[in-house]
Amino acid sequence: MKLHTAPVLLLLLCSSAVFAHGAHVHSISNGTLAIDQNQIEFTFQSPGANMVGFEHPPRNQDQQAAFDLAVTILESAEWITFDSEAGCSDVAVEVNTPGFHDEQHDHDHSDHEHEHELGDHDHEHHADHEHGDHNHDHDHGSRHAEIHLTLRAACSEMDRLNWITFDLFDGWSDNQEIQLDVLTDRIQQRFVLTADNNRLELN
Ligand SMILES: [Zn+2]
Repeated sequence: MKLHTAPVLLLLLCSSAVFAHGAHVHSISNGTLAIDQNQIEFTFQSPGANMVGFEHPPRNQDQQAAFDLAVTILESAEWITFDSEAGCSDVAVEVNTPGFHDEQHDHDHSDHEHEHELGDHDHEHHADHEHGDHNHDHDHGSRHAEIHLTLRAACSEMDRLNWITFDLFDGWSDNQEIQLDVLTDRIQQRFVLTADNNRLELN
């Protein structure tokens, strides 16, 4: 009996929230921050699990509400605070949620078919077979939904921008770390932000 327990436990642990099968790693998100003269651009790519706790189209009212709330908050930009000395304004946020919409899934799917036809159709007789594999991967959830956003702002006193805080940890489902690549005329460096260290120092 005990011989069976350990492998099963291990399996459960491995398939839990730590690692995903896809490209992203749960609980970790990525971002870039670029400053060019008085313009600032922040991009953010997160596994859906980090921000809403699931990675597929909402399947019930609770999931729909959680998803809508997350998008609303992200679009509001209330999670970012710029050093007030810098005079930042004109903040605009665009949020994309690939994998959270059935339509989007279908859309991507037809794109796939299209590429496939363009690439392989002419001389491949087993196109149908490969095609079937494709459908299989797609339909059985190999894909993990993600939250992507881009924020832009203008700062009238950019050289006085000494810090930015990102409130993207507490209150979010499981976002534990942002690996943030920063590119300014003085800084080219990766920073790691966490709940305890959510302030990016720029000087
Ligand atoms: Zn995932």
